[in-house]
Amino acid sequence: MYLPPLPLLLLLRPLSPSDRDIDAARPGQSIGCGAEFSSFEPTTFRGKFHMYAYAVYQACEGRGGNCIILSSMELPHFKYHPNPTATGSIVPSAEVCPVCGESRGFAYDGIPYGSNELEHICPWCIADGTAHEKFGVEFTDTKGVGGYGRWEKVPTKVIEEVAFRTPGFDSWQQEHWFTHCGDAAEFLGPMDKEDLEQMGPEAIEVIRAESGQQGADWEYYFSKLDRESTATAYLFRCRHCGQLGGYSDCH
Ligand SMILES: [Zn+2]
Ligand SMILES: [Zn+2]
Repeated sequence: MYLPPLPLLLLLRPLSPSDRDIDAARPGQSIGCGAEFSSFEPTTFRGKFHMYAYAVYQACEGRGGNCIILSSMELPHFKYHPNPTATGSIVPSAEVCPVCGESRGFAYDGIPYGSNELEHICPWCIADGTAHEKFGVEFTDTKGVGGYGRWEKVPTKVIEEVAFRTPGFDSWQQEHWFTHCGDAAEFLGPMDKEDLEQMGPEAIEVIRAESGQQGADWEYYFSKLDRESTATAYLFRCRHCGQLGGYSDCH
């Protein structure tokens, strides 16, 4: 077996950013290379940075390098969409945000409503309203807040916070945002059958009742619920009384 000389062996070691590199890194900065990082899942680095190498590696592939992009910033808090990375609305990204012109490690996974087809908007430009103010984009149709009259009416400032400053979500049809107790509810995510079962009987009943189906029809529809195809359920929780709400739709 051929063994390369020591210096070459060192070069073949997985490249890992040094502690100094990590401490000095700015959000969105690329500080390391190496294909081995492609298998990394989101994690923290030295308790300070979040590394989302997997998706970023894929995004960088076309540029002839495998980059690691670190973000030292906490994601902004969205009170009506508290965990947008779990719901899939905010994803790790190496792309440049079209609003602030920076690559900050995360982006909106969708195209908001508006005349410009803006992709890869960073969550900070959503949260502080810059994306809406600069380009007039909406992340949810204002009439969708309250489900086009299906649920409670809420104050205009609530509608604006959901539509203009909160990541939306992808629905097969128009998005409906559940409202309750005079406020918009928090979005828990797109759900399939197993997700709803994990959320418990109340969640299943909410989606069943809204679908208008029962018996064998419902059992069949329920078994077909999926996050990616056929039909999807969208679940919300009231921020005041905890009431679950939502709907399902299919394409
Ligand atoms: Zn931005
Ligand atoms: Zn409520």
